Amino acid sequence: MEQQEHKHHIKAEFKKIKLRQIIGVTAAIACAVYIHFTQGLDVNRVLIVSGVGLFFSSVNWRCPSCKKYLAHFPLDLQKCTKCGAKFT
Ligand SMILES: [Zn+2]
Repeated sequence: MEQQEHKHHIKAEFKKIKLRQIIGVTAAIACAVYIHFTQGLDVNRVLIVSGVGLFFSSVNWRCPSCKKYLAHFPLDLQKCTKCGAKFT
């Protein structure tokens, strides 16, 4: 029973992480577009926006069970490749 609750918790956590990731990525893109139209896009601004985006992703995009970074996987990830925790 406890194991079942844990699994349920992982799925709920992953939903939140996924939502945050979508919002974060959308915000980073919106920010880049905004800067592009208001101030013009230069290398430094691109680096700052990408840096913030990558930093956010590295903090947020982690397995809710083992806390390992879920690198280079699509958002419809089914389970953690590190610990095998199921997300869906
Ligand atoms: Zn994991």
